[in-house]
Amino acid sequence: MNTTVTKQSRRVRLVLEENKYVLVPKWAAELAVGADQYGNVIIRETEAPFVGQLIGLTACCGATATGCDGYTGCRKCYNEVQDYLGAPMFEQDIYLRVKVGA
Ligand SMILES: [Zn+2]
Repeated sequence: MNTTVTKQSRRVRLVLEENKYVLVPKWAAELAVGADQYGNVIIRETEAPFVGQLIGLTACCGATATGCDGYTGCRKCYNEVQDYLGAPMFEQDIYLRVKVGA
């Protein structure tokens, strides 16, 4: 049997206001708008049908927490996550924004 070892995706450092930073998966770096007060990265979705929707990523893996089956939990490692990560986020949930020009 041919097995493939998949490494955990590398994260990149995202600089926020107040010179704080969070680590985000590479795929999320371009979509990230900031982090909530708990340090969870928030991205702005660019794919239909969720264009413009703000989504919090899980602290464990930087994955999203919801899926079409309604299960709330990390989509990558299936850890339990806080419920609010599975709900749509709003502008006021952005505690620290991505520093422009960092
Ligand atoms: Zn996880």
